[in-house]
Amino acid sequence: MKKPTKTILITGAAGFIGSHLADRFLQQGYKVIGVDDFSTGQPENIKPLAKQPLFNFFQIKVEDLTPSHLANHSIDVIAHLASPASPVDFDKIPEHIISVNTIGTRSLLNLARRFKSRFLFASTSEVYGDPLVHPQPETYWGNVNPQGIRSVYDEAKRLGETYTALYRRQYKLDARIVRIFNTYGPHMRLNDGRVITNFIKAVISGQPIPIYGDGRQTRSFCFVDDLVDGLTAFLTLDGLDGQTINLGSDQEISINQLFDVFVRILKKPLAKKHRPLIHPDDPKKRRPVLTKAKKLLNYQPKISLAEGLVKTLKYFKVI
Ligand code: UDP
Repeated sequence: MKKPTKTILITGAAGFIGSHLADRFLQQGYKVIGVDDFSTGQPENIKPLAKQPLFNFFQIKVEDLTPSHLANHSIDVIAHLASPASPVDFDKIPEHIISVNTIGTRSLLNLARRFKSRFLFASTSEVYGDPLVHPQPETYWGNVNPQGIRSVYDEAKRLGETYTALYRRQYKLDARIVRIFNTYGPHMRLNDGRVITNFIKAVISGQPIPIYGDGRQTRSFCFVDDLVDGLTAFLTLDGLDGQTINLGSDQEISINQLFDVFVRILKKPLAKKHRPLIHPDDPKKRRPVLTKAKKLLNYQPKISLAEGLVKTLKYFKVI
């Protein structure tokens, strides 16, 4: 007998990670209900998906989504990815960020109760703030300045985690939390202000590559396909109710080294220009402990930074 089609609701479906996730679930035969208000998501990210019969889309704020919008659907899984996530958005649309991660999360948790869905909250490495423990395991509670510019994102994600854990305790929801570390790849906005897109933008316009601060701060960059492998496993495997798992890459490099990788790939000298940090609480280092992801999800990022950057540079037609 043919298995019934499962349905996943993905918020942020027109966003960078959400659009890749929607594509992956359609490929796996799921019905996908995408939700996005296009505040930072891009219509072109879902253009190819819109042609597929199992893709449904609502242009709406997460906070405004009600059971009546979904009356004709059954929903097996909800993945809450909707949220502006670039540090430049933290100054531009702070209240939107707070709202979608707190009120929006609560509203989706209530939908999950109603539809008896599994729920995944997309949290972030930013919950660790400027970490005093390195690398960061899921057990670390973080070092966040509750009043800093970044706090609108960090604290909103932390409260989103709190809601998710609360609803699990109170209502016995199958609720899970993923902490996503720096991710890059096709479907990012060129103007999103993050380091990899800023470097690409500078290359395209022939400007010096902007390096904030001394460039010795580190990040661990994950190509989006690897991240989507991990997310898909976390969303579909049984028995992971209540788990919080880091996902990303554990290959840590400094921003100065990232510049060197760009020079190697593009095979030409590039100028760089140091600028002041835009946020004083810019984390000095960041690398996930991936032991849990490896054990519980069989997760193993496969794409090297050089390979992933070549794919990304091709997407932006730089090479
Ligand atoms: N950064 C940089 N040049 C840029 C943009 C960012 O040197 O044009 C630095 C930034 O200060 C941070 C790191 O790169 O230390 C990663 O920044 P991003 O905005 O990509 O993400 P974050 O990890 O801070 O959320």
